[in-house]
Amino acid sequence: MSQGYLAPPINEDNAGFWEAARRGELCVEQCTACDKLRFPPGPMCPHCHATERRWSAVSGIGTIWSFVRPHPPLLPEFTDLAPYNVILVTLAEDPTLRMIGNLVGAPGDAINALDPLEIEIGAGVRVVFDAVSDSLHLPRWVLS
Ligand SMILES: [Zn+2]
Repeated sequence: MSQGYLAPPINEDNAGFWEAARRGELCVEQCTACDKLRFPPGPMCPHCHATERRWSAVSGIGTIWSFVRPHPPLLPEFTDLAPYNVILVTLAEDPTLRMIGNLVGAPGDAINALDPLEIEIGAGVRVVFDAVSDSLHLPRWVLS
């Protein structure tokens, strides 16, 4: 846990994503056999079943596809942050690529700084990175 957030588990499949985030880049996996982008990362391409892959930077531009306003009971790390938002973003490169995150007003803002009732499905967003620790830079989203 860092600054009240649960740290996601970093493993060999997603380590490249987190390394890129520390550099301020949003990356997804790209199959080296069929060139399709994919997210979340995994050991095998869901399209052609090849296992060779590379990390590919994407624009960090997307659209809010859906959102929720989590209500208690919540995990203890999030209880004091409610109400906050969790958004599902489709990436501009491929709308089947979806990432979960939080909409914030500006980089570094708390995830409960915006009124969740003001979020609109279809709104354009761009990624920002919140350095919650030296090793963990979480992608967040701001309106574009
Ligand atoms: Zn493939």
